[in-house]
Amino acid sequence: MHAMSLTAIAEVVGGRLADVHDPEAQVTQPAVFDSREAVQGSLFIALQGQHTDGHTYAQAAVDQGATAALVTRPVGVPAIVVDDVLAAFGRLGRSLLNNALDRTQVVAITGSAGKTSTKDFIAQVLPGNVVATPQSYNNEIGLPLTITMADVTTHFLVLEMGARHIGDIRDLTRIAQPDISVVTNVGTAHVGEFGSRENIATAKGEIVEALPQGGLAVLNADDDFVQEMQNRTNGRVVTYGLSEAATVRAVDVAIDEQGRASYLLVTPEGFADVQLQFVGDVQVHNSLAAAAVGREAGLSVEETAARLSKAQPRSRWRMETHVRADGVTIVNDAYNANPNSMRHSLDALASMTGGREQRSVAVLGRMNELGESSRIAHEEIGRYAAALDLDQIILVGGEEAGWMQGGVNQAGGKAVHLPDQDTALHMLHTILRPGDVVLVKGSRGVQLQELADRLLQPD
Ligand code: ATP
Ligand code: MG
Repeated sequence: MHAMSLTAIAEVVGGRLADVHDPEAQVTQPAVFDSREAVQGSLFIALQGQHTDGHTYAQAAVDQGATAALVTRPVGVPAIVVDDVLAAFGRLGRSLLNNALDRTQVVAITGSAGKTSTKDFIAQVLPGNVVATPQSYNNEIGLPLTITMADVTTHFLVLEMGARHIGDIRDLTRIAQPDISVVTNVGTAHVGEFGSRENIATAKGEIVEALPQGGLAVLNADDDFVQEMQNRTNGRVVTYGLSEAATVRAVDVAIDEQGRASYLLVTPEGFADVQLQFVGDVQVHNSLAAAAVGREAGLSVEETAARLSKAQPRSRWRMETHVRADGVTIVNDAYNANPNSMRHSLDALASMTGGREQRSVAVLGRMNELGESSRIAHEEIGRYAAALDLDQIILVGGEEAGWMQGGVNQAGGKAVHLPDQDTALHMLHTILRPGDVVLVKGSRGVQLQELADRLLQPD
């Protein structure tokens, strides 16, 4: 973190110092929520969780070297006391950006799917010093945390922004006003909470409303809801996608046997070949968004294409592909699931298994947060999977897995429904042969990444 004294922090967050011996003591390191991660110069953020109260760990954080804690009540260690820790942390982030980091360019990314992948591409395409959101820390906690990871040498801050409600992104952009805003798509993820795709578009579009004049909106040309957002910004607009109308586009897209895409990147300035390291055809769009951001940063088409081709996925459990010693490929996409991403991942599985020796096996768990449409959505995915002619479909879990099986059967296919991971693991160990490709996917809460990990261990 850009060094700040406790007095200065108290001033910008509107707090008071308690138990502080040296008001000029400096915070120099990124904020931490976990006392075990505290080092000399950290600021410990005492969050009130459902089960644990961060205040309990303030002492441990200071013992580990933290300069002070941000708290709602004095706890006997050097502290800045505020009414609302999260709101104060947001003010600290905003103040850092408006002052010490005022020359750092902020790139903000939202959308229903692809935020993290797009962030990973952008962070690796941009030149100079880049600080990006770790993992998917895209809410009011992760955003200021990421800002405290930057310092005056940071050229670009790449921030993933998530939305559960209308107004969420607006609040995040008040902490970090973007110079460049990227929208990946408006899908049906969290439609249960938002009510409709229109409402999702309203919520995500707040990211382009926050742009200053002269800022840049980077919009998916192949999503009509995202295109509509052109009318909601004071910034300039650049579009990306497969459509001929897009400013930055991909032509001649091909997917190789590992599921990796290659294409010709075409911009108004020229064209160059791209060969992605990320798995899945959805990565074409995610990488094009990054190409548009790279172009804005002044990179040539050739440089952009070279950097995109070198970029590696940084986030775990998203089409994370491992080949076992016995030649079985495990594709761990257990980070999350919704109907769109299920269809994309199933398509990727189908395209990865061309040869006669390569069998395709889909291991699917439930999709959360679908509200009233849950049953229909699960049946639909069942029918979709059946139509792909996969070699084996294994559905793991309770009611929702049963609905998917119903869909498979409606489409004239066959699937096995198993109650839990242990039985699924047992069956997989029995049936898998060299060359098989196994896709493991389900919502976050289903924790199927554990099954994927166990599949990688020898039995
Ligand atoms: P979260 O909201 O959980 O943080 P995210 O928006 O960050 O998700 P990613 O982690 O990049 O999204 O991708 C999650 C899954 O969504 C991937 O495994 C993939 O199946 C699918 N996906 C990624 N990019 C796209 C895209 N552009 N269009 C549709 N689906 C996508
Ligand atoms: Mg994410």
